[in-house]
Amino acid sequence: MSRPRLIRPVTSPFDASLRVPGSKSITNRALLVAGLAEGTSTLTGVLDADDTRAMAAAIESFGATVDADWDAGVATIVGIGSAAIAGPLTLQANQSGTTGRFLLAIAATGTGAITVDGDEQLRGRPIGDLADALVSLGARVETPSATQSLPAVVHADGLSGGEVSLPGNISSQFASALLMAAPRMAEGLSIRLTGELVSTPYLDMTVAVMRAFGAEVQEVSGQGFVVAPGTYVACDYAIEPDASTASYFLAAAAITGSTIRLEGLSSASLQGDMEFAEVLAQMGSTIRHHGDSIELTGPSRLIGVDADMRDFSDTVPTLAAVAAFASTPTTIRGVGFIRHKESDRIAGTVAELQRLGIDATETDDGMVIVPGPLQPTVVQTYDDHRMAMAFSVLGLRNPGTRIADPDCVAKTFPKFYRALDELHPDLAPLVVVIDGPAGAGKSTVAKAIAERLGLLVLDTGAMYRAVAHSAIARDIDLGDWDAVGDLTKDLRIELDGSRVLIDGADATQVIRTAEVSKAVSIVAANPRVRDVLKNQQRSWMAAQDGGVAEGRDMGTVVFPRATLKIFMTAAIEERAKRRAAESLDFDYDAAVADLRRRDEVDSTRAVDPLAEAHDAVVIDSTNQSVEEIVDLVVSLLGDLVRP
Ligand code: C5P
Repeated sequence: MSRPRLIRPVTSPFDASLRVPGSKSITNRALLVAGLAEGTSTLTGVLDADDTRAMAAAIESFGATVDADWDAGVATIVGIGSAAIAGPLTLQANQSGTTGRFLLAIAATGTGAITVDGDEQLRGRPIGDLADALVSLGARVETPSATQSLPAVVHADGLSGGEVSLPGNISSQFASALLMAAPRMAEGLSIRLTGELVSTPYLDMTVAVMRAFGAEVQEVSGQGFVVAPGTYVACDYAIEPDASTASYFLAAAAITGSTIRLEGLSSASLQGDMEFAEVLAQMGSTIRHHGDSIELTGPSRLIGVDADMRDFSDTVPTLAAVAAFASTPTTIRGVGFIRHKESDRIAGTVAELQRLGIDATETDDGMVIVPGPLQPTVVQTYDDHRMAMAFSVLGLRNPGTRIADPDCVAKTFPKFYRALDELHPDLAPLVVVIDGPAGAGKSTVAKAIAERLGLLVLDTGAMYRAVAHSAIARDIDLGDWDAVGDLTKDLRIELDGSRVLIDGADATQVIRTAEVSKAVSIVAANPRVRDVLKNQQRSWMAAQDGGVAEGRDMGTVVFPRATLKIFMTAAIEERAKRRAAESLDFDYDAAVADLRRRDEVDSTRAVDPLAEAHDAVVIDSTNQSVEEIVDLVVSLLGDLVRP
């Protein structure tokens, strides 16, 4: 598993255009139907993701040829036409629910023993109602004895078809599977959907793709579909960008008061998830439809909604992320069935919102979210791409949000984080800088903030101390700027968590003696020393992708574009007392005198003197606890990303 990924916060609204990758749902339907068609089809806008690669591999397993340029999103497919799919054969769906379910129904129209399998997660997802429907049509379906789940072995000798009924409230994937298999049945198929229907837009999408490939499908209003027997006919087919993926970018704009234009998505979309944009409009966003794109601008204040999301349930985690920033509560209903997606998305979403400090509760068929202040945390993702993407969006406005197992997004959008980073030209790593005089409490506070935000500390004072210590150890005259400058260039100073190494040797203790404290200000006034160390400090930050830097010139010189600048002060008596804890050979009066002298030298030197950055927040730590200061810093970070 990859390590948690820290999301870079958006600190000012963006205005961006983007074409999100092709729809996963349409790609997998089009791949399958093209694989079953007579002739050569060319698909464009094909999504490159684990799930679609699983489908492409599966149709190759049953005899179609696939020539795909995944980067360009183009696939040329020679289908099997009226040829039979003959076992023994194994079709592997990996983690892809649509691939597993669709292939199960297709397998039943073949001959011999055809095994359909998936990875462990997919093996845990139900297929019972689909298997029952296939059995009622005359196929023999063997599943592991205790559960009706994959791996399934289908024994068939073609299917004659006829009539089948299926509960409409479980998974529309079952009905879509039967629909797409239906033309291969001798008499075609009449599908009756009983009970309450969920995810009907997905059925409409299935029918639209089938029709594009020549299938005859009739809809019997409110009851089901009648599909005529026949062979699909190859065609050139353009796949729409993915509306579920679009939800993350619409949400990103909605919570940051930004503007996003998504190309290739219009109100004529086949995808039910476009409904999500309407919910964001109800929450206060402004939506404009252009011919072939949709544009959304987020409001300065989001309001909660009461949304029945049964027809666009993949966007439930996304709406939950948006709801966390609204000014009133949000209720999500009608989606009890999403407990059986890649993860239990009701339980998972609620648990992660709670971890972030939000008052969220599960209901039978959804959740209630009462917005409130958020805190930095590592969000768990349950090997579920949609959890990872939705909570990444939340991280745009909650500094310190880290996403566990971030690479699980590869299921549908391997380049998701890059797309997120590209939303904002200035989207920078999270850099918090703390400047101030010695003993103001910088190190303690820096450590505590870093811990809360999941960052590392860059103690730049330790670097100057390392130079001073090394110069003393080598008997170099501290006033000889060139000699000390040369020394600095050749030293290898490493900040390894809490230790300081000089040329590989542990120097954590020796750089804290009174002798070094006295010498360090002289060394720190040397422009060559500052130049060398400044470059090292910037490289360190770039390599870490963010951090908490403490020193004297962090906000003014080294990181002028830091996310947040703090200038810490404290009464000199308090500062001297704090030094006692750090110093090996402590003497109170000498400490006060030393601090006074260092303050004077540090703030009056010619290069990069100790100074407040004009945009720094000044914190006096004399009478504040570390926790109080850290809470203040976290809330200041939160304020930075309000729209
Ligand atoms: O923070 P600390 O007390 O360890 O810093 C030691 C000295 O290093 C400071 O008094 C100052 O002279 C120098 N320094 C600096 N610029 C920094 C950090 C420290 O000049 N960014």
